[in-house]
Amino acid sequence: MKRSFTASIAVSMVLCAIITIPALAQLGDRSGGRGGASTATAPTQTKELQTAMTPKKALEMLQEGNKRFLAGTMLQRNLKKQVEETSKGQFPFATIVSCIDSRSSSELIFDQGLGDIFNARVAGNIVNEDILGSLEFASKLAGSKLIVVVGHTNCGAIKGACDDAKLDNLTTLLAKIKPAVAAVPGMEPRTSKNHAFVDKVGEMNVRLTMKQIREKSPTLKAMIDKGEIGLAGAMYDLETGKVTFYAD
Ligand SMILES: [Zn+2]
Repeated sequence: MKRSFTASIAVSMVLCAIITIPALAQLGDRSGGRGGASTATAPTQTKELQTAMTPKKALEMLQEGNKRFLAGTMLQRNLKKQVEETSKGQFPFATIVSCIDSRSSSELIFDQGLGDIFNARVAGNIVNEDILGSLEFASKLAGSKLIVVVGHTNCGAIKGACDDAKLDNLTTLLAKIKPAVAAVPGMEPRTSKNHAFVDKVGEMNVRLTMKQIREKSPTLKAMIDKGEIGLAGAMYDLETGKVTFYAD
């Protein structure tokens, strides 16, 4: 299998709390079926919706959003209206760490609108202290309930790390991906020409990024351990549009 990791959507123990299901959760079921245009309108995130949100439900919201994206049944959104509705404050339910790749925009692949999710985008979806600080803001101060690290197939940054590419500041960034290259054994040739290797390193990079979030942010680790927020990883397939999640 080119992309072999298990499509486990089970969430970690910290996500296993009993949940309440806000009205928003039902929207995916009203979207008109596979291939049909959606007539359901997405509500804008409010403080009430965010307060009622749980890490488990936030993960399900993203999973449902990607299903709609795949089926072409995205929810109706009046973005101009959402600008007005979110102008006084924001109450996102999840935070995504993903690559800058132009084909992996989180709002599109998870079918979300303005004010729904925080995005931290950096080539190769790594974390540094600035990204970690952003995640701390999103989770501790702004109420987001879930962090998802989203890698993607055929990632240029991962390929660069595999090939030991050098370019000014990019060299420093790629150095943060090198541990993921080293952590994937065998699979010759270990270059960007080996697509299976590249995607395996991409998955490993997501896992190591998740590990670093726990290890380098006492604030986020405490919130994860208490079940206040969830932490999940995922890979986005550029060829199919599908996001495969896996647990912390
Ligand atoms: Zn990428």
